[in-house]
Amino acid sequence: MRWTRSDKQKKRAQCRNNCGWYVYGSWHGRSCFMIKNVGKDHTCPRSVRMKVANAVWAAKKYLDRFRREPNWKVKNMMVEIRQAHNVQISRRQCYRARIYAKRMLGVSLVKEYNKVRSYMAEMKRKDHAGTFILEVDPSSIPERVLFKRL
Ligand SMILES: [Zn+2]
Repeated sequence: MRWTRSDKQKKRAQCRNNCGWYVYGSWHGRSCFMIKNVGKDHTCPRSVRMKVANAVWAAKKYLDRFRREPNWKVKNMMVEIRQAHNVQISRRQCYRARIYAKRMLGVSLVKEYNKVRSYMAEMKRKDHAGTFILEVDPSSIPERVLFKRL
């Protein structure tokens, strides 16, 4: 779908294939979206983008799980996600979800480590008498160092 009308409250979306199918609705408060009108039977095939969306959704939804269990078995993942959310999720989508989750977790770790210097500055500001030493390892990647200890 793509949005064809989108202000704060009223939303209208139509099929990307321009087949004439649309959905129209509006927000009532923060948590209630009311569909006012939907086009007749929609027969366009499900797009590949939807498959990606499901994998990204699963990766985000189960990010904590992936953090604890980075190699969560696809077979088990499929069953659990289907049961918990009543969503058809394929083996391939689960496999992709795991890749996305690993990527997301990797990125968020890099973000955390990038904060170490400002975290250290804040500790120094709070505790003038304290001694704080940041130890790093030079890495094989130019202009990058690896956190060792603080
Ligand atoms: Zn369509």
